[in-house]
Amino acid sequence: MTDTVRVRFAPSPTGFLHIGGARTALFNWLFARRHKGAFILRIEDTDTTRSTDEYIEAIIEGMRWLGLDWDEGPFRQTDRFDVYRSYADRLIRDGMAYHCYCSPEELEERRKEALAQGKPLMYDGRCRDLKAPVPGVAPAVRFRMPREGRTVVDDMIKGFVEFENWQLDDLIILRSDNTPTYNLTVVVDDVDMKITHIIRGDDHLNNTPKQIQLYKALGYETPKFAHLPMILGADKARLSKRHGATSVMAYYEMGYLPEALINYLVRLGWSFGDQEVFSRDELIEHFSFEHVGKAAAVFNPEKLTWLNSQYIMKSDPARLAELVIPFLVKEKIINEEASVDLAWLARAVVTLQERAKTLVELASSLRYFFSDPASYDEKAEAKFLNDKNLPFIVELRDGLRSLEDYSHDGIEKIFTALVERHEIKLGAIAQPVRVALTGGTVSPGIFEVIGIIGKETTLRRLDKAIDRIRSINPV
Ligand code: GLU
Repeated sequence: MTDTVRVRFAPSPTGFLHIGGARTALFNWLFARRHKGAFILRIEDTDTTRSTDEYIEAIIEGMRWLGLDWDEGPFRQTDRFDVYRSYADRLIRDGMAYHCYCSPEELEERRKEALAQGKPLMYDGRCRDLKAPVPGVAPAVRFRMPREGRTVVDDMIKGFVEFENWQLDDLIILRSDNTPTYNLTVVVDDVDMKITHIIRGDDHLNNTPKQIQLYKALGYETPKFAHLPMILGADKARLSKRHGATSVMAYYEMGYLPEALINYLVRLGWSFGDQEVFSRDELIEHFSFEHVGKAAAVFNPEKLTWLNSQYIMKSDPARLAELVIPFLVKEKIINEEASVDLAWLARAVVTLQERAKTLVELASSLRYFFSDPASYDEKAEAKFLNDKNLPFIVELRDGLRSLEDYSHDGIEKIFTALVERHEIKLGAIAQPVRVALTGGTVSPGIFEVIGIIGKETTLRRLDKAIDRIRSINPV
């Protein structure tokens, strides 16, 4: 029987959940779900000067929004300092680590010298074989890295990557203030949490041989590794704010659906034939590292927007109605306390979901379902709300007013009768009515709009338009 897969997402809470972090989380999550394993959330907050509780909250909020649920955690490394120290003690006891009394100033001095002489910037091993402690100096603890041989990383994406051990440096695992450093905490946690696969960005690849040596020194088997290629902007520089929004929750605010972002993120590096749109179940079924590319992925916001429009188009209108509410509030179309009839809103959503690319767009195009147009588009008004069209608008209003069967068919009949009577095209009456009801010339089918906003509102808006035409063109 194979071991159960156990993977982890291990963000440092020094910023919001960003696109790169979310993709790492997603690949871990998919791998866990694919293999019915466990997905663990571990907060690497040992850098206490830069980590904050707000960022922890923000990362959790981003993961929740994306639906990346975890099975264990969140664990916090700051709760586990004693554990890391006990592992460091063990390494000292076994001769695999040693106390180093060099002060930061001395190290900096030597670093500068090495730089000037073009030598590698590494610890010179001065304290490696000290026989006695230096009195009155609090030592750091360094790992005794082997100086001979090579360490090979067997990576599920990159294949074998070799490192010369002499280049790995005797890294500090406990600082002189007794706080542990990244490479130690990561290895200890991955051992303690029985992690089987380490899936992370390839910006950590250079740490991996050091971590492998720590596993060896502690006598544990190394897990499997998968280092994901970086995400770049269109200019091939590493993705950053310069390329647009990089925080996951910024995409929430811009009206993206979490499933669209998930679908987009997974394609940053992973492919399955030429399929572009995947359901969550399909992703779980097909995900594997065989299909993760070696090359860096380029972030393409237009493609994300296209995917989002696809998801909006296919979404259940009832769900979109619920999701769009906060955006209606933000656009000041409704206020926070407003109680909205969701079934009614879903009918309005159906008429617009084919063309809205984001929930923000959907919200703003829903405006006229909630309130009378505050003004008319200038050109549209001149062209359609004029003397020439006035008799048609009046006649249509009267027809609708006396309409008993206020259904799609009933409404359509009123239009058809008018068009036939005057031998005009449907557009000749539909456009003026559209401007009167929505303020502009672009809207879904006019019969739908009339049906959804209801008789009273329709008549009120037509009356308003009629009054306005009459006031501008007095008889
Ligand atoms: N805390 C590290 C980071 O946020 C991740 C470490 C790891 O995955 O091993 O970059």
